[in-house]
Amino acid sequence: MALRKLVALCLLSLAFAACAVGEIEAQAEYSIDIRDETWDHSTIRVLLIPQEDEPWWDTAAINLTFQAVEMWNNALATFASTYQDSAYLSNIRLNSTESAGAARNFDVYISWREQFTDNAGTVGRTQLTTLSGAIESCNITLAAKDSFGIPLTDAVNQGVAIHEIGHALGLLHANYSDDVMFNQASLDISVRPISTLDAYGVAQVFRWRSFSSQFNPSNQKPESNPLSLPSDIGYEYLNPPQQDTLGRIVSSLLRYVQTPEGLVMSIVVFIILFGVVIIASALYGFARQHKDKSRSHK
Ligand SMILES: [Zn+2]
Repeated sequence: MALRKLVALCLLSLAFAACAVGEIEAQAEYSIDIRDETWDHSTIRVLLIPQEDEPWWDTAAINLTFQAVEMWNNALATFASTYQDSAYLSNIRLNSTESAGAARNFDVYISWREQFTDNAGTVGRTQLTTLSGAIESCNITLAAKDSFGIPLTDAVNQGVAIHEIGHALGLLHANYSDDVMFNQASLDISVRPISTLDAYGVAQVFRWRSFSSQFNPSNQKPESNPLSLPSDIGYEYLNPPQQDTLGRIVSSLLRYVQTPEGLVMSIVVFIILFGVVIIASALYGFARQHKDKSRSHK
């Protein structure tokens, strides 16, 4: 009898804990902040500047960043072909090239440094110059190591590159911890794909392009900020997942526990599981005692 109760209690508690963990994937509303400024042309020229003379330089960073640029191009093209209202997004393209020498006339310059020491946890930075509502140029600096001096993994390197290129496209931060535009990336072990939320944000940054191929500030009407994903667009990843499912789940959990609500949820789940263990061991002890007693009665 006691054993049956124990099993029922354990199942109930585990179901409750599973519901709490399930909350990780649930999100009431997906939203993203975007800049007021926009690029006034459709092809964004990106220059990657390798730091070959530096002892910390890892050439893999170039390929990872080229791939990050292509992920944006693919995600924007997929979104444009799926959602008719954003079809004009198919005209927006990042054109990337690599040069160690001085090169001019690019829109976005991506360079690397060993690490950021001024702000713990910073692994990438984007600085934009703007003039009367238009973005004039953009400088992205990516770190080779974290603020403790530990080299970043390929997944973090690429994730940070995707995130910073998102800033170069006029996005700010998303409210969802599994989105590549969420403001934390330090514990990533898998690359977060670009989402419909990110592409929708870029579509809004370039909304002038839905009227004409020529930039006209009057076609860049102010939008509400942050932008919420419209109800007819589901939150989805636009790039095919590159990592195994387990890696993505672990990454997702790690990111979630870093958020304030994730931290509260982790404490709740921990207390529930702790309670289950205490009750289970108490009932097990009681059941044994009961057994011993009935044996001694024989
Ligand atoms: Zn950011």
